[in-house]
Amino acid sequence: MDKDTLDQTRRELRRFVREKLVPLEKQVADEDRIPDEIRRSFAEMGLYGISIPEEFGGLGLAMDEEVELVFELGWTSPAFRSLFGTNVGIGSQGILIDGTPEQKQAWLPKLASGEVTASFALTEPEAGSDAASVKTRAEKQGDHYIVNGTKRFITNAPHAGIFTLMARTDPNNKGAGGVTAFIVEAKTPGITIGKPDKKMGQRGSHTADVIFDNAKVPAANIIGGKEGQGFKTAMKVLDRGRLHISAMCVGAAERLIHESVSYARDRKQFGQAIAEFQLIQAMLADSRTEAYAARCMVRDAARRYAAGETVSLEASACKLFASEMVGRVADRAVQIHGGSGYIQEFAVERFYRDVRLFRLYEGTSQIQQLVIAKQMLRQAEAGQDA
Ligand SMILES: Cc1cc2nc3c(=O)[nH]c(=O)nc-3n(C[C@H](O)[C@H](O)[C@H](O)COP(=O)(O)OP(=O)(O)OC[C@H]3O[C@@H](n4cnc5c(N)ncnc54)[C@H](O)[C@@H]3O)c2cc1C
Repeated sequence: MDKDTLDQTRRELRRFVREKLVPLEKQVADEDRIPDEIRRSFAEMGLYGISIPEEFGGLGLAMDEEVELVFELGWTSPAFRSLFGTNVGIGSQGILIDGTPEQKQAWLPKLASGEVTASFALTEPEAGSDAASVKTRAEKQGDHYIVNGTKRFITNAPHAGIFTLMARTDPNNKGAGGVTAFIVEAKTPGITIGKPDKKMGQRGSHTADVIFDNAKVPAANIIGGKEGQGFKTAMKVLDRGRLHISAMCVGAAERLIHESVSYARDRKQFGQAIAEFQLIQAMLADSRTEAYAARCMVRDAARRYAAGETVSLEASACKLFASEMVGRVADRAVQIHGGSGYIQEFAVERFYRDVRLFRLYEGTSQIQQLVIAKQMLRQAEAGQDA
């Protein structure tokens, strides 16, 4: 996208977020539902297709362009982004990078337009951080696979038209090499969606179990057509996903800082605005500094990703720093609000709960640390400096 068009898109999104979405935040949290007209607006703005090439009807943004839009989206409740987030990430990218030409033609235009929602089904009751240990089994029978197993915490499962399913096709290979990625239509007989989970925050976004009971999936639905490639596919799109989440954290931190500054200027104690107290100023300054650092990190890594560099270490470093950073910023925001920060009427109370998730999904902070350290040791082995 040329710079002027990107700039205009970003400005329009900023206006939409601040004028339309922010006033709806409380309603969405109370009703645990995003209004249909907002869903339609997201589709009209092309947000379902941010990362899908124009030839398939998407906006076709490069990663450094995508994060500029995501910074804007982070300003409001993350539940809004969640509605189309799965179409932007692994739901579409796995098909885009490794899918066959038929799979791309069949699904990418529908994902880009928002006609179909894609969910990513990897986590299981006994396989979380150790994702390569998935037990869901896909057993070959002629030109089909029979799938049995349970997937847990699957975002958008209640709304999904397709699942990108990670299942074990080779029971003798207990590691990543035995796992295959499938495109599975949600209406396939034998698939049941559990009751939506009651979450700590991000109300309006829904996760649920997905249970496969002898679900019959055509062999033609293996992403890329080859068994045992599922994990490689997932890894290829992970860097992009982690940068996307990091940009969300930056946007959310900036919103929390905005709320903190305006509260601190209004609230008076000891005869003056609390913003005049240097101990409050220290909290504001720390939050602003950390958010700025995260913004710079995300921009740098996204630019390098867009230029074709491998940025697994940097993407994990961004996810680790940005998600922990927004946790600290949210905590300070509550502190600056005093008792009011604990009351639901104030946005910071909701954001405090909403942003907690960023340290948990798409790899916990501990998993990011492991990825970073592993790459560092690999580089040292190869005699490379940072
Ligand atoms: C709201 C929500 C939405 C989600 N959406 C999806 C989705 O759409 N699709 C999907 O597939 N999954 C999804 N997940 C699942 C999410 O990715 C996992 O919850 C996450 O990866 C952690 O796995 P776990 O919950 O099993 O925790 P565990 O892996 O059991 O971890 C528990 C603790 O142990 C730590 N730990 C684990 N292994 C190590 C280690 N080797 N070294 C040090 N510490 C370790 C972890 O960091 C954590 O602190 C979602 C989860 C939530 C809560």
